Parts: sequence; structure tokens; C-alpha cells
Amino acid sequence: MRRPSGVLFLETHMETIHTVVRMKQAAREARAKQRTLGLVPTMGALHEGHLSLICRAQERCSAVAVSIFVNPKQFGPGEDFKKYPRTLDEDRAALEKLQVDYLFAPTPEEIYPSGFRTEVIVQGLSDRLEGRSRPGHFQGVATVVLKLLDIVQPQSAFFGRKDAQQARIIQQMTRDLNLDAEIVVCPIVREPDGLALSSRNVFLAGDDRRAAAALYRSLDSLRREIESGERGAPRLLAALRGVIEAEPRVALDYAEIVDAETFDPVEELRKTCYALLAARVAGVRLIDNALIEQVGDSFRVTL
Ligand code: AMP
Repeated sequence: MRRPSGVLFLETHMETIHTVVRMKQAAREARAKQRTLGLVPTMGALHEGHLSLICRAQERCSAVAVSIFVNPKQFGPGEDFKKYPRTLDEDRAALEKLQVDYLFAPTPEEIYPSGFRTEVIVQGLSDRLEGRSRPGHFQGVATVVLKLLDIVQPQSAFFGRKDAQQARIIQQMTRDLNLDAEIVVCPIVREPDGLALSSRNVFLAGDDRRAAAALYRSLDSLRREIESGERGAPRLLAALRGVIEAEPRVALDYAEIVDAETFDPVEELRKTCYALLAARVAGVRLIDNALIEQVGDSFRVTL
């Protein structure tokens, strides 16, 4: 086809794939061409947080696959599986613009054909914090991520620190099962008022949206306490809770400071910890965390 002169055509090479068979084949072809494959698993309704993982993948890998799959197994009964935002056309356009190589968007039947029976459980790490509030959630996450890692067999897979417990569980699973993929954990991308980007933020408007920034402000007050020398978890958590309780639209589910390796609660800061919290605003469940790392005698807090 002749192209009119003076018109810029954006060549898009992204392949949208809906079947496991084709995704496996495309990944094999990429590996045969000596391309290093990066995988970014998502549930879609893409935002800048997802895009930051994709950019990181593109820096480190010569071909990038993004999966979009709203995984029914990681939603409990009564959770928002049905109303979770689905924006596949916009997502595809954003990924084409970024020149992603493969969009893998399978149906639930493709991932869980009838008669599917296998579940992956990462013991211990999966039944506290998010796992206690959302029974079965991490079983669903680990099962689908194992499947995605097996289908694509990437050199590296990219996850956000926003879901710190999820990233830790995936790291443990890859170690335990001798999977080859390197698990790369990327920083949290935030709105100007500090709210961590999330696909669920579209459900928040007006006063509720403004109130949601209290999660960030509570972690910021914890950071200030640490910077002024406080090391005790109970006092640090009291400062955090104080900020949340001052915002009546925000209902705290949990707030804990845990060891970054074991996810066991700590009494005093040590080595590397996370301060993790989950809360509801207008029925929307939000999570956030701060990474707390020992540097010499002091602690560096990254929100
Ligand atoms: P989701 O689509 O919510 O399952 O998220 C897909 C991936 O994007 C996960 O690894 C998340 O941790 C990551 N992610 C979600 N929100 C953010 C954010 N605000 N900043 C960085 N990564 C994020």
C-alpha cells in the first residue's frame, strides 16, 4: 500500500495473543532469536505504575511480554471480580505506543480449562496480612504467576513493591521451585498527593479520593518518627494510626511493621522491614507500604 507523503505512520509490531499455545510458541521464537524476554504480569486497566514496570523491563530485556488477565482465583466470594475495571482496548493502545512486543490476554477458560485442579500454596507467608484479610488470595496469585512464568519462560519478571507481600511470595515460590526467572521488584508510583496508583482508584471520587491520600500521609508520619529517632514498632504504628483515625472516611484493616524476609511482625526496627497497611475508602480496598532499610546506625524510609 502506498503511503501519502508527509504522514507519519507509527509501525506497530505488537502481537496480541489469546492462547497459551501461541504465547509459548512466540516466546520460543523470541528465545531462538537470542532475545532476552521480560514478563510484566498485570490485571489490566493500565496506569503509570504498570507502565513503569514495562519501562524497566524494556531497559533490561530485548523483548517484553505484558499479560493482562483478571485472575478469578485471586478474588474471594463477595470481592470485586465482576466490577474490576476492564479496559482492554485502551490498554492495547498504550502498550502499542510503548512498543511492547507481546500482549498476552487469555480468557479464564484458556488459563483454567474445565477440570483444572492444581493450586500453588506458599506456606506461612500467604496466610497473614493480605492473606488473612483475603483468604485464598495468594494461592490464586501464586498459581497464575507460576503458570505465566511457565508459559513465557522469561529471563526476568517485573513486579511492583506496592504489592510487597505478593512480590515476596513470588520470590519465595521461584526459589522453592527452582524457576529460572529473576524476580525484579520496582518502586511504587504515586499520584501528586501521594496516593499509590491502583486500577481501583477509578472508583474513588471527590471527598473519598481526597481522603484516600491519608494512607500515604500516615506512612509519611511514620517516616518522620523514624527520622527523629523512634525505633519501636508500637509507637511508630500509633503515629500511623493517628493519621488514619483523623480521616473518618478511611477504615483501617491492618497496619503492621514486619521483617522484609519473613513477614513476621517486629517490635523494634531492624535490618530491612516493611510498614504495611490496608484500608477501605467508600468500599474500595487500598494497600500501601513503606520500605525501611538500615543504613549504618540509621534507617532509610522509602515510600
Ligand atoms: P495489578 O494489575 O494491580 O495486578 O498490578 C500488576 C503489577 O503492577 C503488580 O506487580 C503491581 O505490584 C504493580 N503495580 C500496581 N500498582 C503499582 C504502582 N502504583 N506502582 C508500581 N507498581 C505497581
